[in-house]
Amino acid sequence: MKIADKNLIGIRRIVQGGFFIFCLYSGWQFYNFYQWATGKSMLPAARPPAVEGFLPISALVALKKLLLTGQYDLVHPAGLTIFIAALLIALTLRKGFCGWICPVGFCSNMAALVGQRLKIIRQAPKWLDVPLLSLKYLLLAFFSYLILWNMDLAAIEVFLRTPYNMVVDAKMLFFFLSPGRITIMVMVFLLILSFFNKNFWCRYLCPYGALQGILALISPTRVERTAEKCINCRKCENICPGAIEITAKKSIWAPECVGCLECLAVCPVTDCLSLTIAPRRRVPAFLLPVLILTIFLGLWLTALGTGHWRSTIPLQTLKHYYSIEASISHPGR
Ligand code: SF4
Ligand code: SF4
Ligand code: SF4
Repeated sequence: MKIADKNLIGIRRIVQGGFFIFCLYSGWQFYNFYQWATGKSMLPAARPPAVEGFLPISALVALKKLLLTGQYDLVHPAGLTIFIAALLIALTLRKGFCGWICPVGFCSNMAALVGQRLKIIRQAPKWLDVPLLSLKYLLLAFFSYLILWNMDLAAIEVFLRTPYNMVVDAKMLFFFLSPGRITIMVMVFLLILSFFNKNFWCRYLCPYGALQGILALISPTRVERTAEKCINCRKCENICPGAIEITAKKSIWAPECVGCLECLAVCPVTDCLSLTIAPRRRVPAFLLPVLILTIFLGLWLTALGTGHWRSTIPLQTLKHYYSIEASISHPGR
């Protein structure tokens, strides 16, 4: 462990916390925009594009259109940009979006921290853990079948231009602001489970994380363990948010690794754990968050500068659909 590595946990919390606060702020801005756009407030407000980061299904449809036609869909371009950034980071730097940027991951980490402090956190036994781990892949397979396999270009064009896709951000807002009884029960259930089981939602249920995990399998960036130096103290395993059996491996390529580097930060033996980029070249650990943020912020700036960040839906169209949002349902229903 080097002195700089020790600071990685604090740096990660600051980065994650920063993105979390930014998301809360964007949600507040979006609420004000919605109120103004529907005539419930006289205070003009701008629509924050970042809220589209919570629309991964729409982003997946738009990504397929981009791959098929080369055209960047401009209904929710910020959502597509964030999605591409997350996938690009996974392909090169492990699930760095999960580990350093995603606000849900941050909440999940905080709940696990509380669970650890209260000593109530438990790892599910293998016979339960393995089938539960498959759930997020089943959900990913379901969405991949519906979108990547089943939707042709014509269906994609129709979906992206539906009133539903245009108001799906407002639907997401009300999903959080006025959830139904079942939604509340599910959310409370997941929250409680997160105190008892490390990162329950991320580990078992999030298809977004599952997709990143699959892409990360070919990522050239890894944590490597020098077995000869390891004293088997298991501090790395106790802190690992992915509950990975680090002491049983030499190279960590597991899809659960979010590149948080907390294992490096707590390892008491110098150079026992290290960050490598293929072909097994050791690099300073701080390079990982620097590269993750460079890709994420670099794509954001590029999208902003080239007109691929703000939605081009005319304000009047948006105002009209927002005013009838409650009556607009998913085109498949
Ligand atoms: S698994 Fe899903 S919710 Fe968890 S950090 Fe990753 S993207 Fe966010
Ligand atoms: S193996 Fe290390 S870098 Fe990967 S998730 Fe676990 S603690 Fe984080
Ligand atoms: S923290 Fe370091 S020394 Fe301890 S078990 Fe993990 S790799 Fe080995």
